[in-house]
Amino acid sequence: MPGLARVALAWLGQGPDWVDMARKESPAAVHPRALEPLAVPLIDTHCHLSNGRFDADREDVIAALPSCGLAAVMCIATGLEDAMAVRALVARHPQLIFWSVGLDPFSCCEAGADFPAALAGLRRLLDETMATAQAPRALGEIGLEYFHTLNAKPVQAEQLALQLDLAAEFSLPVVIHCRDAFDDLYAVLRDHPRNQGIIHSFIGPPEHARAWLDLGWHLSFNGTVTYPANQFLRDAAALVPADRLLIETDAPYLPPVPWRGRRCEPALVRYTVECLAEVRGERPDDVAAWTTRNACKLLNIPLPWSDSNFSI
Ligand SMILES: [Zn+2]
Repeated sequence: MPGLARVALAWLGQGPDWVDMARKESPAAVHPRALEPLAVPLIDTHCHLSNGRFDADREDVIAALPSCGLAAVMCIATGLEDAMAVRALVARHPQLIFWSVGLDPFSCCEAGADFPAALAGLRRLLDETMATAQAPRALGEIGLEYFHTLNAKPVQAEQLALQLDLAAEFSLPVVIHCRDAFDDLYAVLRDHPRNQGIIHSFIGPPEHARAWLDLGWHLSFNGTVTYPANQFLRDAAALVPADRLLIETDAPYLPPVPWRGRRCEPALVRYTVECLAEVRGERPDDVAAWTTRNACKLLNIPLPWSDSNFSI
């Protein structure tokens, strides 16, 4: 049922409150792997398939990606230990899974006084893999996390800056994690003009979107854009130029409506595509084409179509 119809029903008292319905296991929602795929292949630029919540059916989720309309996913390793698991996935599925690695704010905090050793480990990993077919496509996620209590703010900024320099040295785009830290992150990225990449799980008002766009960054949207309370985010999504737009799931986190309250998986990215298409006044296939092309260009992933048979 279209969102507006559901709201109208709830308003008239003729249906369940649709927010609650979305948060519970809604029998009306189609399983993500049973959805009819879009005509244009998608790329989920941010998921965590190494996460323990995929232990029971990881290979099934991966095997279903093509039939769900996904050309590829970028799996994010959040630290050196996670990198081993993610690399094993890439080795098993080299055409389908691409990867990125960085020391996220949680890994940086866990490393404690051993942060320099962890950074040296990251450098070694890049040295070992960059010249191979299975090179990471980006450095990250790295960034600032103020919602959880982690390292002190200036320490986080310094650890981010060191990794930004590493990314520039290896000519890798960066995947940025930012939670409740817009002002400080803006200061760091403004001072690092050599770096480019993705503001992952972008969540913010149109002014924040404009600020990142002006610095040359891409914005990646996920299920949060479908949440009823996030009209500010839909307003922001509407103003992003098509060539800076990316999609992701952050699976197993942040499932879109109508899959809230359950585990997210890459197939669900098409709900984000549909929401973006609606708020941008475009067709889902246009959003798919732009975001896939942008991801391939930025992350050095082969285009899943030949340019001659596809124009946007
Ligand atoms: Zn993530």
